[in-house]
Amino acid sequence: MDEKSNSQKKIINLFSNRNHKSFLVSNQIKKKFENKGYEVSEKYNNKASLNICVGGDGAFLRAVHNSCCSIIPFVGINTGNLGFYQEILTNEIDEFVERFISGDYEIDRLSLVEARVYFKNSKKIARHYAINEFLVRAKEQSIVHLDVFIDGNHLETFAGDALIISTPSGSTAYNFAAGGSILYNTLKGYQLTHLAPINSRSYRSLSNSVILPSNAVLKTEVTKIDRNNEYLLIIDGINKYYKRSAIDYIEFGISKKHINKLVFNKNWYWLNIKDKFL
Ligand code: NAP
Ligand code: MN
Repeated sequence: MDEKSNSQKKIINLFSNRNHKSFLVSNQIKKKFENKGYEVSEKYNNKASLNICVGGDGAFLRAVHNSCCSIIPFVGINTGNLGFYQEILTNEIDEFVERFISGDYEIDRLSLVEARVYFKNSKKIARHYAINEFLVRAKEQSIVHLDVFIDGNHLETFAGDALIISTPSGSTAYNFAAGGSILYNTLKGYQLTHLAPINSRSYRSLSNSVILPSNAVLKTEVTKIDRNNEYLLIIDGINKYYKRSAIDYIEFGISKKHINKLVFNKNWYWLNIKDKFL
């Protein structure tokens, strides 16, 4: 094999959170892959064959965002509690390295939800991608009022804390805590869940969450009644502020982008659900 193809093939990206255990585990992984002839990069390298994230689910989310939703497969090494994205336990690292090198794994395709923010006085569209979910809420601890349309059909006028628009793999996160359903992580579609909806004579929204097909477009528009000057689009827990007066509406839908995640144990998803929630 010549030097060029060698360097193109054998790179691993290694991302870690900052706790001490993750630091030790990352060093261990680095040494093991280097012994097998891999170059390990702690910065995102687009020629790598694998993205490894060491930490909890939050570390996985940050690694995906920091790599701009890289198409290179991800795998999570868990240094916290059982994680939904973090399949490999610290005592399984040797087995993981061997199985990765011999190609003994499957790949799950995880959908992302895209948000397109349309502005009033500009043709610019701001695009954001979520692995878990988007929240649309008021900036301060106040009610947000939103008209919700699905494929152009007015569905409801929501008033409450927030709307959660979650991916299937994000359905076990905030969505679940807000009473939404678990969608198997590779299912096609996405979910709308209402956080503390007000149901009165003036406002009415569905009391259960809605599962939408992947080609559906969900649109939210702040109603005139809303005097909040700014509102928030929260992307996988990261706040993005928008001036209410500047925004026309926001569209959500399943993105053309997706991420790939290595799977070594197909039972792990259900084991994890039981371990974490029951
Ligand atoms: P965090 O405050 O550590 O996250 C809250 C919890 O959600 C952590 O236990 C995290 O696991 C877990 N989590 C993340 N993604 C998950 C998933 N897909 N399925 C099941 N559990 C998941 O902050 P973070 O680690 O940066 O995670 C951001 C996420 O926190 C957001 O996307 C949102 O879903 C979630 N969140 C939930 C609530 C709530 O349930 N009321 C409120 C705010 C945010 P780790 O400990 O392994 O990181
Ligand atoms: Mn976390």
